[in-house]
Amino acid sequence: MASPFWEQHCCLPILPSADISELTRYPGGSYLSVNVGYSLHPIEDALAMLHLLRRNALADGRFRLVESVGDIEVTSGSEDRIALAFDLEDSRPLDGDPDNIALFHSLGVRSLLPTYNHANAAGGGCLDPDDRGLTPYGRTIIRTLGEVGMFADGSHCSRRTGLDIAEVAGGPMIYSHSNFAALWPHPRNIGDDQARACAATGGVIGINGVGIFLGRNRVEGRAARIEAMADHIAYGAELVGVEHIGIGSDFSFDGDQFNAEIAAAPENFSEDYTRWGPLQWVPPEDLLGLPPHLGTDVDNPDARPRVAGLDEVLARRGFTDAERAAIFHGNFARAAREVWT
Ligand SMILES: [Zn+2]
Repeated sequence: MASPFWEQHCCLPILPSADISELTRYPGGSYLSVNVGYSLHPIEDALAMLHLLRRNALADGRFRLVESVGDIEVTSGSEDRIALAFDLEDSRPLDGDPDNIALFHSLGVRSLLPTYNHANAAGGGCLDPDDRGLTPYGRTIIRTLGEVGMFADGSHCSRRTGLDIAEVAGGPMIYSHSNFAALWPHPRNIGDDQARACAATGGVIGINGVGIFLGRNRVEGRAARIEAMADHIAYGAELVGVEHIGIGSDFSFDGDQFNAEIAAAPENFSEDYTRWGPLQWVPPEDLLGLPPHLGTDVDNPDARPRVAGLDEVLARRGFTDAERAAIFHGNFARAAREVWT
């Protein structure tokens, strides 16, 4: 791998059973932002998850809890630990009080998206038929994120809400895990106008590895998903410049659990999540070109063999060492240095 890896969004089950050691499937030196709550979760759940992961990460010893970008730089230099911060999807965990942003920041949360798929008190969602923008409360949230030093994230929001975030943020905004609708017209993917507005703030778009958002959700499509991620990276680099593209794979460490969660709470999703069958993800091993993780699934032929990782595929397509390092780490690090004051 050309450089330490910055993973802007990945998901353990948001349950007491979450196993912190799963995160060590990413190599030492990586930075990971792990989700601790979305529209399903009241504040108590998100805080309980944060306390659990922080306690278990410290007890495990292979992690460094991130307070500043400097913590990530130290970690990526030493390559023996994983730098860890957290993110929230939806403003429900704020419990209606923007002051809770400072509380979450003190516990290591470094990004928040105001609206998960469907409209709430803060703004519009990407799966809604009507495209609502940020509400006055949503604007207060975005301004407070900037004051506290946390990324404002437009993923899962409606188009107008995303454009409003770019206007209100007052600094770099991100799309932590969003692909391009121009390549695959899924409502979770973003328009060129959203990407341009994000880039104009100095922000970064993290390309994800979710099959249904790549248009490659076949169970056996592992290599095709890496190629499709490279397609989205190449498209974004052409559209807004390579300095505005990163990776937020959205990998779900327990995919069966998340697919069951979608089935159990369909009001948070739509047919656009379920019509291609169970969601498939790009695991860290495929993303980084490492030997596959077989887990308990040692007899599964779909899990073998090693596939060419994203770095290898991008190099083959002519991305230079410096460009790949920027996509894998440098771009999000630059935005974080500006926002996480
Ligand atoms: Zn998400």
